[in-house]
Amino acid sequence: MTISGKQLIAGNWTDGRAGNFHGVNPATGENLEPAFTAADEFQVTEAVDAASACATEFANLAPAKRAEFLNACADEIMNLGDELLERVSAETGYPRARAEGERGRTCGQLRLFADWIVQGEYLDARIDVALPDRQPLPRPDLRSFNQALGPVAVFGASNFPLAFSVAGGDTAAAFAAGCPVIVKAHNSHPGTSELVAQAIDKAVKSTGMPAGVFSLILGSGRRVGAELVKAPGVKAVGFTGSLQGGMALFNLANARPEPIPVFAEMGSINPVVLLPEALKEKAETIAEGFVGSLTLGTGQFCVNPGLVLAVEGEELDRFIAATGEALSKVGAGVMLNENTLSGYQSGVARLRDQDGVEQVAAGEAAGSEAGFTCQAGLLTVDGKNFLANKELQEEVFGPMSLVVKCRDQQELLQAVSALQGQLTGTLQCTESELANYGELVEVLRQKVGRVVCNNFPTGVEVCHSMMHGGPFPAATDARFTSVGTMSIARFVRPICFQNYPEALLPDALKNSNPLNISRLVNGEKSSDAI
Ligand code: NAP
Repeated sequence: MTISGKQLIAGNWTDGRAGNFHGVNPATGENLEPAFTAADEFQVTEAVDAASACATEFANLAPAKRAEFLNACADEIMNLGDELLERVSAETGYPRARAEGERGRTCGQLRLFADWIVQGEYLDARIDVALPDRQPLPRPDLRSFNQALGPVAVFGASNFPLAFSVAGGDTAAAFAAGCPVIVKAHNSHPGTSELVAQAIDKAVKSTGMPAGVFSLILGSGRRVGAELVKAPGVKAVGFTGSLQGGMALFNLANARPEPIPVFAEMGSINPVVLLPEALKEKAETIAEGFVGSLTLGTGQFCVNPGLVLAVEGEELDRFIAATGEALSKVGAGVMLNENTLSGYQSGVARLRDQDGVEQVAAGEAAGSEAGFTCQAGLLTVDGKNFLANKELQEEVFGPMSLVVKCRDQQELLQAVSALQGQLTGTLQCTESELANYGELVEVLRQKVGRVVCNNFPTGVEVCHSMMHGGPFPAATDARFTSVGTMSIARFVRPICFQNYPEALLPDALKNSNPLNISRLVNGEKSSDAI
């Protein structure tokens, strides 16, 4: 396969008409070939119009047919072979093993969605048959199920060039729901984006999907991305990235004449609460796991543990000393791009300047080599300063964490109560502490999408029960996840049919149950025909 630098608009590869840009190798700072062309507004409109034109056809396909398409996308991504892995590494600085792991996750989630939609559970089909003799009033025949929302605009993040990108979780969920997708490629990995789009294009063609079901648009978020979100044909947005980017798109979507939902998964500092008995038993072991989680992928994970909360004392000092020692041995890591590195450096400097913040440890210095390299590190602050300063809760994207030393249990509870919404909250504790700290646990539950117990937040499993989201500002809508099969719910809406002719009902609601799915019939689960 060659990378062309073109847009994919409804099955056609075309040059963008709004200038050129290059991908950059973050390990060297050098431009990568070829140049990519950016779309103009007419090309955005063309992609959205094509998506709108085929939205009904795609939505009404049998789930098994869409499953075939999802599986073909996974097959074609695998068929890209080494070229994909090499381009991922060149554009992100990730080692091959990480690229391979992320490819496995991406294909795994496409296949998981394929298996899931044929089971029909996500359709939530409900039937209340007519009761013509009911007194005092008859009941009409009522049937509801989840139908696709329509074209979805997807924005991936720089740190997941595959799993949260062109064929990542948002795209897989939207396709699974029956929604055409227009992806705004991330400028940090345009070549990877094009290769994956080539794979999807092949899958579209080999499984006979309508051409408008997928388009890839290149260009800047503020221009092309904004055009996309404002396009009347777009009915929802899936976004993974920064708080600033997510909120900009959220505000644009809400300012439209017809506002649309924006499901944005944004930054998070993922507090880790260390309870005293656990610290006493295994401060050093916790420190080891913590450092692994903090430095994984040079800290460039949305679930990176950027905050530690505990009561001060000898046990916490042991944790800090062990963490500091381990961090001092961590080599400099390559960050994804120049902006991520400068954001990290200025974020660390800003944290260090706050009242009461002290630096405990820094990883090995980056040295003089070219490329976007950074040092991991650990800071501390006392509970009083933490509670007085909201800036200490701002995400610094990268391998840096802040330990808050609380005066006592009461101050620890206050610190947890003062937290903003988070993707995850971790508890390192004994089982009896979990029961004894009931109030703290309840407060933490109000703040997060996932409670992690004696484990670490990095490593988001793609499965049926995963919740990857959380109260604002972790996400724009805490009711939905962006990872796992529950994420389909973002791109469907319930529709009810009243007294509708049986022959013309969607298959999911027909008496004969041709999809052979489980439905709620008169209040009871059943897979039988009616
Ligand atoms: P980003 O800068 O927000 O970019 C994400 C996408 O949004 C890009 O395509 C970008 O286009 C576009 N964009 C950004 N600002 C925009 C604006 N004002 N208007 C229109 N489009 C805009 O994020 P990133 O650098 O890729 O990712 C790093 C951040 O993502 C971190 O904060 C991390 O915590 C978060 N993250 C969250 C999750 C999660 O699941 N919650 C997962 C991974 C990462 P341009 O580049 O062209 O501007």
